Amino acid sequence: MRYTVNEQGYYGDFGGAYIPEMLYPNVEELRQQYLQIIGDAGFKNEFDQLLKDYVGRPSPLYLAKRLSEKYGANIFLKREDLNHTGSHKINNAIGQILLAQRLGKKRIIAETGAGQHGVATATVCALMGMQCVVYMGEIDMERQAPNVARMKMLGATVVPATSGSKTLKDATNEAMRDWIGNPVDTHYIIGSVVGPYPYPEMVAQFQSIISLETKKQLLEQTGKELPEYVLACVGGGSNAMGMFYHFLEDEQVKLIAVEAAGKGVDSGHSAATSVLGREGILHGSRTILMQTDDGQVVEPYSISAGLDYPGIGPQHAHLHKIQRAQYVNITDDESLQAGLLLSQLEGIIPAIESAHAFAYLEKMKFEKDDNVVVCLSGRGDKDLSTYIKHFGF
Ligand SMILES: *Cc1c(COP(=O)(O)O)cnc(C)c1O
Repeated sequence: MRYTVNEQGYYGDFGGAYIPEMLYPNVEELRQQYLQIIGDAGFKNEFDQLLKDYVGRPSPLYLAKRLSEKYGANIFLKREDLNHTGSHKINNAIGQILLAQRLGKKRIIAETGAGQHGVATATVCALMGMQCVVYMGEIDMERQAPNVARMKMLGATVVPATSGSKTLKDATNEAMRDWIGNPVDTHYIIGSVVGPYPYPEMVAQFQSIISLETKKQLLEQTGKELPEYVLACVGGGSNAMGMFYHFLEDEQVKLIAVEAAGKGVDSGHSAATSVLGREGILHGSRTILMQTDDGQVVEPYSISAGLDYPGIGPQHAHLHKIQRAQYVNITDDESLQAGLLLSQLEGIIPAIESAHAFAYLEKMKFEKDDNVVVCLSGRGDKDLSTYIKHFGF
């Protein structure tokens, strides 16, 4: 109970819905209806069926032998990289499109940074025959050109966000503006555990399939449901929240959330929110965010577009404050090294986002029989040009 949301949409001091009055009807409609809709047996059946037959769940829990040998513990990878479209983001997109249908919506909007959430959203819109508009920062469109092409091929309209720093936070602002202008027919699919309540809770529930499966798989493979450690990278925090969800009440499981330090926490080019951030309002919720003394959002930086976000979701802010999870950070260089290591020890090229979680294994000390689960949130195909540039292949 200490970890979950209260009636007002707060996790301890964080959360809520700080939105312009014009957005109030949209968010209030969601708040009033989502629990009943996703609790319905018909919804659950369709969600489970699509996760199985379309996404390819359950995703495997893989005991990485050579990695385990290197670190002296049993390292298990939760293979969200094997999902259709290549990351965990599809879990949430499927849940929200089913919800949008039941709310009678005809048009979907989304924001995207790395392009992964945009691709997941464009994918489920194609699947359901819904109109799709994705807002993306102009700079991110250049950095992630293959994902822009994917979205277009899937039938989505990609609109460049040209204001501010031309990245994720600007795309989010544009999407909110669109939603204000189209309150009746449009559903806004937010891609992480951020935004006004009920989004953080809803997205966490859709992603919680990750830890639900992991518990069962650990029990089958090791005879124990609980590992010693669970690690995941944190941008907004959705793969981490999904990976932590069913372990929150199991206090003996150590939860480790890995943020992007970028070029170093003190370099001025970082996205390590838990170290650099202070409490404030970001994208409709009270959380921790990187801001100047007069409250301007500080531009974050990470080599991985998916971790390049100035805040963390409100539930993470709470878990950080009460120290239920430990928040650590990893630099660009450390993450690229970890990506190379995983490629050459296990034959798996990870997304650079996910590589941040693996890099932290280097800094941990294990007992021989420790079971450690790392969320492999996505595959590295989209990041190949970055790896090539760094390593000079
Ligand atoms: C988007 C993304 C992330 C970061 O988002 P979270 O909401 O923090 O999970 C991490 N890994 C991959 C592969 C992504 O695409």
